Amino acid sequence: MNSRTHVSFDSPSAMHDNSQHHDARDGHAVSPYRAEPLTDFSRAAARRAMDAALAQVSSQLGRTYPPIINGQAVLTAATFDSLNPSHCKQVVGRCGRSSVEQADAAVAAAKAAFPAWRDTEAPKRAEYLFRAAQVMRRRRFELAAWQVYECGKPRREADADVAESIDYCEFYGREMLRLAQPRRRDVPGEDNVYFYEPRGVAVVIAPWNFPLAILCGMTTAALVTGNTVVMKPAEQSSVIGAKLMEIFQEVELPPGVVNCLPGFGEEIGPVLVDHPDVTLIAFTGSRSVGLHINRQAAEVRPGQEQIKRVLAEMGGKNAILIDDDADMDEAVLGVVASAFGYAGQKCSACSRVIVLESVHDAFVTRLIEATRSLKIAPAEDPGCTVGPVIDAEAHQRIENAIDKGKNEGRLVYAGDVGSWKEEGYYIAPHIFDDVAPKASIAQEEIFGPVLAVLRARDLDQALEIANGTAYALTGGLFSRSPEHIARVKREFRVGNLYINRKITGALVDRQPFGGFKMSGMGSKAGGPDYLLQFVLPRTITENTLRRGFAPDVHKIECAIEN
Ligand code: NAD
Repeated sequence: MNSRTHVSFDSPSAMHDNSQHHDARDGHAVSPYRAEPLTDFSRAAARRAMDAALAQVSSQLGRTYPPIINGQAVLTAATFDSLNPSHCKQVVGRCGRSSVEQADAAVAAAKAAFPAWRDTEAPKRAEYLFRAAQVMRRRRFELAAWQVYECGKPRREADADVAESIDYCEFYGREMLRLAQPRRRDVPGEDNVYFYEPRGVAVVIAPWNFPLAILCGMTTAALVTGNTVVMKPAEQSSVIGAKLMEIFQEVELPPGVVNCLPGFGEEIGPVLVDHPDVTLIAFTGSRSVGLHINRQAAEVRPGQEQIKRVLAEMGGKNAILIDDDADMDEAVLGVVASAFGYAGQKCSACSRVIVLESVHDAFVTRLIEATRSLKIAPAEDPGCTVGPVIDAEAHQRIENAIDKGKNEGRLVYAGDVGSWKEEGYYIAPHIFDDVAPKASIAQEEIFGPVLAVLRARDLDQALEIANGTAYALTGGLFSRSPEHIARVKREFRVGNLYINRKITGALVDRQPFGGFKMSGMGSKAGGPDYLLQFVLPRTITENTLRRGFAPDVHKIECAIEN
């Protein structure tokens, strides 16, 4: 379903051929950006490589991952276990629970490393990203395997997440080379230069659902623009956060330039957000935490020099509209993939489908049949289409939403998790029909495999329902009417709108990603304006109408002394 090109290869080593040519020290030698191909799992060699990586990683489960501050692993008084949601008794890694003091130490290390990193030439900083991309290519299957175990991501989706991480490194590296060219506006007698410089210490707070890509995207954007970083991966994906840190260490980023703090958001998050030496917070996660961070960061603390910049990418309540002339085959497949891929745990996932009255019954019948064919299984199962949800808390929250939904709509499909019930945090797809637009299951983000179907008389009403939530992240339309397509493009106000295709799987550069309203504040990830948020623009004007330069007093004094 993904619209990237697929790479075909007969041996796993052929994967390395996808690398892009770069020598960032000479900006001209960098090849144009292109997306990393997805692995073609229809090839036996790819399946074997993934199986081998899963076996290799399974022998490494249960290891300990401490915080890394100023290039050093540091001990913590307490640890927490990151569990495999597919087999919830399996410990994927034991992670250091960073303390408040360690959060302070990480900010201090980032602050100390800042001046030298700021003054490192942009092409050199970009080069680190290109090298990190190379390491990710080499470790592609292994990094995907960690996601299968730690986040319950089916293998294809895990592979796509690693590809996206590579894309961020390659794209932001090139974007920085572009931004590093100063803009000159010289006139006779006056030189004017406009350029960017980094802000300082950036804190990156990431979610678990794109465990490598989102953490990597926010962090590399901060780094390549010359900021130093304290990374706070989500609790549920701390091992993958540690793997990203390993990659940054392997490419020999100087100590302190990036620091990694596994730990609990509510413990160390506020310390990082409130810290007077932090200048920018790049957050992706839930609306409630994002809004809380925005409020906290607005407060100016003693000793603080800069007003903090907050980038917050948050949730969605994304809808797909089904027009009365839609191609039903395409529409059903598109909705199923968008609603139930990764068990509905993508920020872009479809959680409302708004169907025009005349095709409603036919569409819902086919939607139910297509959903019935999905295979609920542990993420490592090659046939898995719906894996587990992330943890016990999410499981409980989604079950509560389903219970509530039973009073708000007609439950027309409830899948069965069968014998997996005891093994992990499984929830089967659920579809509610005849849901009222203002019902909570049509308004609140559930972040699980739960889909609300809403009827609309006509396109007017469909658009009113579609735009009638607090969010504006993704949306879609299936239609064959050019007039309706044009109208929906104008009037369905979301960050990423997709016509006649699924609404998940945005690609770096091709579909820059992010929303507005309560879905986020900030420019789209993977887009042309993203890096601008991490820099400060400066202008220097010099009057060049002088009569020569003053003698260099220092040099004259030295000459006299000698
Ligand atoms: P979350 O808000 O629970 O956690 C996100 C991060 O915030 C974690 O690292 C967590 O430890 C940290 N955190 C928690 N409390 C904090 C506090 N008080 N101060 C500072 N940090 C704190 O979200 P999640 O469950 O990890 O992710 C799911 C959410 O993310 C969904 O709402 C989803 O829509 C959203 N999301 C949005 C996008 C997007 O691009 N718009 C992408 C992915 C996920």
